[in-house]
Amino acid sequence: MVIYCKTSLMPDTRPRIVFDDDGVCNACHTAAAKDAIDWDARRAEFLEYVERFRPKDGFYDCIVPWSGGKDSSAIAYKLKFEFGLNPLLVTYSPMMPNDIAVHNREEMINLGFDHLMVRSNQKVCRRLARRFLTERGDPKIHWHAGINAVPVQVAVNYDIPLIFYAEHGESEYGGRVLSEEHLKMRDFAEVLEHQIGDDPYNWMDEEIEEKDLAPYLYPDQNAVDEVGVKALYFGYFFRWSMKENYDFIKDKIDFQLAENGRTDGTFTNFDSLDDKIDNLYYYMQFIKFGFGRAVRDACRMIQNNQMTRDEALELARRYDAEFPKTYHDEHLDYLMMTAAEFTEVVDKHRDPEIWDRQGNNWVLRHPLA
Ligand SMILES: [Zn+2]
Repeated sequence: MVIYCKTSLMPDTRPRIVFDDDGVCNACHTAAAKDAIDWDARRAEFLEYVERFRPKDGFYDCIVPWSGGKDSSAIAYKLKFEFGLNPLLVTYSPMMPNDIAVHNREEMINLGFDHLMVRSNQKVCRRLARRFLTERGDPKIHWHAGINAVPVQVAVNYDIPLIFYAEHGESEYGGRVLSEEHLKMRDFAEVLEHQIGDDPYNWMDEEIEEKDLAPYLYPDQNAVDEVGVKALYFGYFFRWSMKENYDFIKDKIDFQLAENGRTDGTFTNFDSLDDKIDNLYYYMQFIKFGFGRAVRDACRMIQNNQMTRDEALELARRYDAEFPKTYHDEHLDYLMMTAAEFTEVVDKHRDPEIWDRQGNNWVLRHPLA
């Protein structure tokens, strides 16, 4: 049996999510609790942290891990132009870069930011993408290691002790919250714990050597401590809403949106635009857990009072199951797979508790309700 949250649409198949006895998920509780937060006090706390951790010398005050999307660009903009910091924008390159994001990043750089981008060896990256999609139904396992490691590697190597992350995903979207403190300051151990079983050293094979693992390795703890790296969540100090971030940044730069008016599998056109592989990534979430990108986006909007549950339900029913068609041929090429191999891999990851085969079709045993 799959249970859907009574307030949002999130099912209990989401990893680590917690439901209360009334059938409401903990992401909805996090959202509801925001009305009672004293945001002025949080802002004052933010200013205090900035002064305390800001380096006393050096060129950069902080690092912003930056995709060039609406969220990280809104943060970078505010840090620079509202709070007077000089951030270094650090991008761990998308696997399959999208021209829209290249344009959006260039718009920001032209406003006056320095930018550092690490693009990992694509021979290795593609081989790992193919392996992880096949074995675990997720082509981005190694990319997630890289996006966690690279900003901290830069912090250590450039001696910049302060990093600004966007939101605390576990509390914001439903997951496990280990301590109140971690909602504010990133606990690197918690982040690495979610990658357990993914020690990059296990990825070596006849073609991948130790030296190929550099972008995926978290820096040595002694080196991190020596620089005193601290990472704060912007979403703890300022009320977080992906739609408001979009509304903010579109007034500052010529922010381009998804081609064709919306992204595969959802009704939005402004989120997660930088990597063509994301359309496949979210589709595989749908295959593995029974909820896709439309449910994900709708939940966020319900929780921010930007949509009713009924409106969300209608959009989710319409788009959630949509095949990631826009870049399908490019996905196959990137993954070095034929269409038939791809279909076989997808079907292998359908959880029989979630999916029922009816003739030639797969249907959800417990559809959205
Ligand atoms: Zn919920």
